[in-house]
Amino acid sequence: MKNIVLVSLGCAKNLVDSEMILALVTSGDFQIVSDLKEADCVLLNTCAFILTAREEAIRECKAIRKKTKAKIVVLGCYPERSLEEVREAMPEADLFVPIRDYPRLHSILTSFLSSEKPLSPLDPLKRILATPSWSAYLRISEGCDNFCAFCAIPYIRGRFRSRTLDSLLEEAKMLKEKGVKELSIVSQDTAHYGVDLGKDGPRFLDLLKALDEMGFYSIRLFYLYPNELNHEIIDFIAQSKSIAHYFDLPIQCASDSLLLKMNRHDSVENMRELISYILKVMPDAVLRTTLIVGFPGETEEDFHNTLDFIKEIRFHHLGCFRYSREEGTRAYDMPDQISEDVMRARELEIMGTQLQIAAERCREMVDKEVEGIVTGYDNHRHQYTFRCYWNAPGEIDANIYFSSPLPIEIGSIHKLKIINGFVRDLAGQLIE
Ligand code: SF4
Repeated sequence: MKNIVLVSLGCAKNLVDSEMILALVTSGDFQIVSDLKEADCVLLNTCAFILTAREEAIRECKAIRKKTKAKIVVLGCYPERSLEEVREAMPEADLFVPIRDYPRLHSILTSFLSSEKPLSPLDPLKRILATPSWSAYLRISEGCDNFCAFCAIPYIRGRFRSRTLDSLLEEAKMLKEKGVKELSIVSQDTAHYGVDLGKDGPRFLDLLKALDEMGFYSIRLFYLYPNELNHEIIDFIAQSKSIAHYFDLPIQCASDSLLLKMNRHDSVENMRELISYILKVMPDAVLRTTLIVGFPGETEEDFHNTLDFIKEIRFHHLGCFRYSREEGTRAYDMPDQISEDVMRARELEIMGTQLQIAAERCREMVDKEVEGIVTGYDNHRHQYTFRCYWNAPGEIDANIYFSSPLPIEIGSIHKLKIINGFVRDLAGQLIE
């Protein structure tokens, strides 16, 4: 029996791969352990989306090597992106397995670790949840067709491929039976679901309707591009039983000329119209976005258009990234690359503005009653943490804290009254 430790880096979509890998390697001659000291082999599932993600993978590999003599197998996006580069960057690793070799992953590992019984490829129905037992991600498609000029994902993960509706519903049923209350739907382009499944095939709305009938406590949608949404989908979310009024709309910037250069298929007017419709039918909707500053050719005017837009919309949650020049992408060779200093200054200005907006948004929550899940206990603050439709899993948004004189079960559902709003976080009082 070989002891395996799995270290997962990157986003929730990669975490789903890690969960399937965990299930795969617990079958056969492997067992999962958490202590590096007991490991015969460490699987490092990497992200290679941008330079900082690759740097994190390199650092992690070095850190693992310092702690153990076990074999290190590097998986995922980084070897998929460039085997040559990853071999050079991670001399501590013993083996590299790109995503395209996942169908043979078990046999690769068994022969590498000298075992015998190779098993089947990764199976979405066989996952060992790396998230708490009451929370899980459902990845509804692979790859991306958008080819945003700054992004290497379509080259790493391939073209957009929707999973079949049947396989998704089967996976969702399996998760529900395991006790999952909170389902997070992820993909590179979530509302694009189904467009590759034929003229009469299911679309995103069909998937939402079917999932909504399954009785999850809460379903949250990530990576919704405004140009893929429409009033029908928004109307359905508004009256659904379980879909959170939470809109993750990664707009990247709010300048039409820059959107064009980024090869984003959207316009500021469309984003504005869509958001105003969301707020018209769901005045309680929570808005999240991500921005890129310093894309090649971003002028002061482009930047100020984006800044004005975030002041106008007042997103509740916002992440801002400095442009990362990625080899192989269209933007790599674009003229007018922006200096690191300018990018930093723009990032600071966005985040400074957002801090004020987020604080106002937090104060607007005061006196509201919210129902949600108790997610853990913070030993430093001696308070419980809590999640309702307002904040997403994966620590991407702020937290809600509350105290209780009596012990409370993690994963249980309660009601809080929000009693205070800080710069990012909220404080609540248990009412039920
Ligand atoms: S939508 Fe754009 S940013 Fe997102 S994965 Fe696809 S190409 Fe990359």
